[in-house]
Amino acid sequence: MIPILDSKRQYAKIGNEVEKAVCEVLRSGSYILGPNCKALEVELAKYIGCNYTVALNSGTDALHLALRALDIGKGDEVITTAFTFVATTEAIGIVGATPVFADIDPDTFNIDPKEIEKRITPKTKAIIPVHLYGQPCDMDAIMDIAKRYNLYVIEDCCQAIGAEYKGQKVGTFGDIGCYSFYPTKNLGGMGDGGLITVNSENLRNRIIALRNHGGAIRYHHDEIGVNSRLDEIQAAILRIKLNYIDEWNKARRDHAKTYNELLAGCEDIQTPTELDNTYCVYHQYTVKIPNRDEIHKMLQEAGIGAMLYYPIPLHLQKVHEHLGWSKGMLPNTEKDTEMVISLPMFPELTLEEQKTVASTLINCIEKSKALA
Ligand SMILES: *Cc1c(COP(=O)(O)O)cnc(C)c1O
Repeated sequence: MIPILDSKRQYAKIGNEVEKAVCEVLRSGSYILGPNCKALEVELAKYIGCNYTVALNSGTDALHLALRALDIGKGDEVITTAFTFVATTEAIGIVGATPVFADIDPDTFNIDPKEIEKRITPKTKAIIPVHLYGQPCDMDAIMDIAKRYNLYVIEDCCQAIGAEYKGQKVGTFGDIGCYSFYPTKNLGGMGDGGLITVNSENLRNRIIALRNHGGAIRYHHDEIGVNSRLDEIQAAILRIKLNYIDEWNKARRDHAKTYNELLAGCEDIQTPTELDNTYCVYHQYTVKIPNRDEIHKMLQEAGIGAMLYYPIPLHLQKVHEHLGWSKGMLPNTEKDTEMVISLPMFPELTLEEQKTVASTLINCIEKSKALA
């Protein structure tokens, strides 16, 4: 069995450090928004290259509070992709705004800037590009549109910590960047966690207030906020893991290159494309194949933990039914949701395992063609 992700292997390497740090937190008596959170916020601002970060309870909260901080709500439209995890549009719904979908570039799976421009109306307030699978969006083109139409940009970086576009880390191009520390992410805690990156001091202060019941001063509440504080145990763990993130992302990139080479001989497999001048961090290694569902089943039977991210695009989900989208409106998104399959990808993956994954995938495709 080769899993899509094996967190235990990472723990075997850093477990001693983690256990020591967690015990220190337990003994310290400070459990929420304490010294580790403060230090993590500073260390991540330095790592990502922004003025401030604010630690939160999840990536979903980061997206939600980003929209709140920019006063986006009822009557406003936010343009994003339907080829992402539901949290992206869920956050838009939580604040009462309307998600408007723009189709993707089929090569990168990311939102297509040309499609964004077609969806702009007088109600449009913001764009949420998602750096899907760790691949940066075309930020020059997106920021150019945002400038011309006076729109906010909130980057969904939940899958892309450490990813770069033209040498600059994602999350520093738009007004706000949103990160997740869900355990499966490239920088994952051992519980939930999230983060906002921001350059404006005003926005930072607003988010600090929003995460703690809408007030900067205890028992003084200026607006309806939420409880979205990061706990010290997660912060301490994330500070340890931050020391390894570059090494781990590099390992993912090396594995991606190995997969590309191992799969190059099979013309039915479309391996991932990287835009020029980007540093993709391969949260997922996702290929396109024909007969995807059948081959997915065959892979599972062969003990390969391949996954489908995501089997149903968001414009066709029940939750967004009332928005009136239907099949045929986002052809590239719809086509790719039927073809994508993500292969096992994590830093500790071995070459032997990669060879097994690649040869099994190629065999399954051949078998499925012979049966057809
Ligand atoms: C994981 C993820 C989120 C949500 O993050 P949580 O920490 O799980 O709330 C949002 N957007 C994308 C693209 C994600 O992958």
